[in-house]
Amino acid sequence: MSATLTLENIVAGYEQADVLTDVNLSAAAGKITCLLGANGSGKTTLIRVILGLTASRAGRALLDETDITGMQPHRVIAQGIACIPEGRRVFPRLTVAENLKLGAYLETDSEKIAERSELVLKTFPRLKERYGQFAGTLSGGEQAMLSIGRGLMAQPKVLLIDEPSLGLSPLYVQENFRVIQDVNAQSTTIFLVEQNVRQTLAIAHAGYVLAQGRVVASGSAEELRDSKEVHAAYFG
Ligand code: ATP
Repeated sequence: MSATLTLENIVAGYEQADVLTDVNLSAAAGKITCLLGANGSGKTTLIRVILGLTASRAGRALLDETDITGMQPHRVIAQGIACIPEGRRVFPRLTVAENLKLGAYLETDSEKIAERSELVLKTFPRLKERYGQFAGTLSGGEQAMLSIGRGLMAQPKVLLIDEPSLGLSPLYVQENFRVIQDVNAQSTTIFLVEQNVRQTLAIAHAGYVLAQGRVVASGSAEELRDSKEVHAAYFG
């Protein structure tokens, strides 16, 4: 099950100033859409707005036709949006099984939770091998899988993933991005926030480039690969 996430004319920021000015974007149902942007361009603020953690001063956020603007975070999550935060935060002193269970906290039926665990373990056989182990003993790549697996336990329509490649070795980055593609292939909309331009554009269908709180480029991954704004934002 997937849905389209749309932001229309979003203006948002903190006490001192606006950070996002008139942001329009759409993460299409069933696709991988990326948001690229250098440090401080407003990516985290944008995620906070989607999750209802930072209020927008203007504009709308929609999940398909449902207006989620101004909803409390727990209601946004209940609508079907899950977020994998930067840094792959797993609970190190809880087992893999326990970490996964926490991802399904809105579900009370233990049979359904077990079914979801089974599905996640099918996607990540490595986690099955580590099921009873403390998450803190897993490798960086395995922790990355666990954090995505935990997000999937909520069976979201849209999965927001914040900088999954940050701090991972190139090999793990590759593996992690493959996993994101697998998850998307099971028809979950992915909104991927990244600084790793080349590898992100290799797996995304489409994307946006944010600079100083504005969308300065958008298009298919192919178009963005050749875009001068991408080169200016990252290499210029
Ligand atoms: P990074 O990749 O470094 O996390 P980012 O693209 O996610 O950067 P944001 O964290 O959204 O960017 O920050 C955008 C701007 O908003 C920055 O100028 C930052 O200083 C400012 N900012 C972020 N959080 C706050 C806050 N809580 N209060 C005031 N200003 C903030």
